[in-house]
Amino acid sequence: STPGGPRTREEKIVVTVRLRPLSKRELLAKDQVAWECIDDHTIVHKPPPQDRSAQPAPFSFDKVFGHASLTETVYEEGVKNVALSALMGINATIFAYGQTSSGKTYTMRGITEKAVNDIYRHIMNTPERDFTIKISGLEIYNENVRDLLNSESGRNLKLLDDPEKGTMVEKLVEEIATDDQHLRQLISICEAQRQVGETALNDNSSRSHQIIRLTIQSSLRENSDCVRSFVASLNFVDLAGSERASQTQADGARLREGCHINLSLMTLTTVIRKLSVGKRTGHIPYRDSKLTRILQHSLGGNARTAIICTLSPALTHVEQSRNTLFFATRAK
Ligand code: ADP
Ligand code: MG
Repeated sequence: STPGGPRTREEKIVVTVRLRPLSKRELLAKDQVAWECIDDHTIVHKPPPQDRSAQPAPFSFDKVFGHASLTETVYEEGVKNVALSALMGINATIFAYGQTSSGKTYTMRGITEKAVNDIYRHIMNTPERDFTIKISGLEIYNENVRDLLNSESGRNLKLLDDPEKGTMVEKLVEEIATDDQHLRQLISICEAQRQVGETALNDNSSRSHQIIRLTIQSSLRENSDCVRSFVASLNFVDLAGSERASQTQADGARLREGCHINLSLMTLTTVIRKLSVGKRTGHIPYRDSKLTRILQHSLGGNARTAIICTLSPALTHVEQSRNTLFFATRAK
């Protein structure tokens, strides 16, 4: 669409919901399944069996995936189109949002794997173009940026504003993937590195955001004309547990203490809410957090976004699940 004009259907944020199965622990504790997917787009809180007359309002999204859904299906129906637009020079970001243990990491790892397969399939099928794929990985914990490809000295990295490239992470390692095997290996290094932090800090993963960024560059062979070359980022973002955002909203006064608060997650929810209503003129507070600064050029504008909201099916988590669905509704 034209700058300043309304967002078209193509550009709107793709919002999907994925329910995981009850875990062994939840089964052992005789926890109940509290949610039901009544069709491909609609999820509803199950009324208690003794009260069939109570009909809670359903939530509807671009897609909902039930507890038996495969990551393959989530990828094909909720992510693929957004992810592959990065091959055509359009920045794209895929988020996993949800409370801790709802399945964000499980889903994001599977999605990343499937996207990598598709990217290399596309490269094979497009012999007329030369592709270069670069990868970087970082973690944001308490507004500190850590390089997942440089465990030696990649801590407390600074953000710099480059007039051309936008916000850059100073000294962030960016590796060129020589082929798909190499790329998978680099992604595993990032995932393992995040795990290390997790163990050291006990519940790190519930408070940290992980971004794996692929930069996909291509140009027509035998044609150095730069008009015919594309470059775009594809970001896979495994967010901190959303219970942090709701805690923050419940107690705004603690914002400055930083301990239980997640400034990046809170700012992201504001940015997404503003983008979803198609506001291009109003102030969008990208600069208020590290996460939104780093992702600024991959959100809004010409960029494409998909958000997978992961839900625990358990009755004991029903309040957090409802919060996730409220967030998802505002992001549509
Ligand atoms: P989060 O990253 O949101 O904290 P995880 O991805 O670590 O949650 O998932 C919590 C647990 O549930 C893990 O043991 C994971 O393997 C399992 N799990 C999550 N989603 C699914 C799913 N769709 N199918 C089967 N197991 C799942
Ligand atoms: Mg996780």
